[in-house]
Amino acid sequence: MTEIRNIVILTGAGVSAESGIDTFRSEGGIWEQHRVEDVATPEAYARDPDLVLRFYDMRRAAIQTKVPNAAHLALARLEAAWPRHITVVTQNVDDLHERAGSQNVIHMHGEHLNAWCTTCDTRTRWTGTLADRPPCPACGSKTLRPDIVWFGEIPYRMDEIQAALARADLFVSIGTSGAVYPAAGFVRLARERGAHTLELNLDRSQGSAWFHETRLGRASEVVTAWVDDVLR
Ligand SMILES: [Zn+2]
Repeated sequence: MTEIRNIVILTGAGVSAESGIDTFRSEGGIWEQHRVEDVATPEAYARDPDLVLRFYDMRRAAIQTKVPNAAHLALARLEAAWPRHITVVTQNVDDLHERAGSQNVIHMHGEHLNAWCTTCDTRTRWTGTLADRPPCPACGSKTLRPDIVWFGEIPYRMDEIQAALARADLFVSIGTSGAVYPAAGFVRLARERGAHTLELNLDRSQGSAWFHETRLGRASEVVTAWVDDVLR
């Protein structure tokens, strides 16, 4: 392996699961008799905004009761100690990477703790509810929605992510199935540009064949062990 300078880390639901944050697929993915996919689309929001806002109000409240686990803490420790560049690209919409201490985090699917005003395009840190239609702090319009990339919407900051992948010497995918685009394409792009690629996951994924190396286990254990290796 060539010398590792720049690292890009993709994290998915498997990293937050041990903090008690459930995934869309867990518990049958049913909420108030609605499939979760049906409250996480622009069409659902247009059809029944109260329902969608209540769903996200519930999730926004829930994540604030959770705490980072050993995997989040290990990644923050790596970033603090690493002399070159580390980018954490996360599919997760919680703030556990930041609360663990990670500085350079790209939330490609948005953040529960942001509200987005569809009138003035301002994003505001938000810990309370939206279903009661509070006014936008910037323009006063009652048009705040969750700053979440819904099914059918385009992930955020893809140009930055692709630039980071292009200069990566090591790409690590943690706790994600690797089956969903565009994240599924990240490993291929990183490999094409010469990066070593490593998957840390509970089980082998549909994308495993694309990685040079796969290590299996719970995120809290396998990520901590990998970070210890890197910093040794
Ligand atoms: Zn506004």
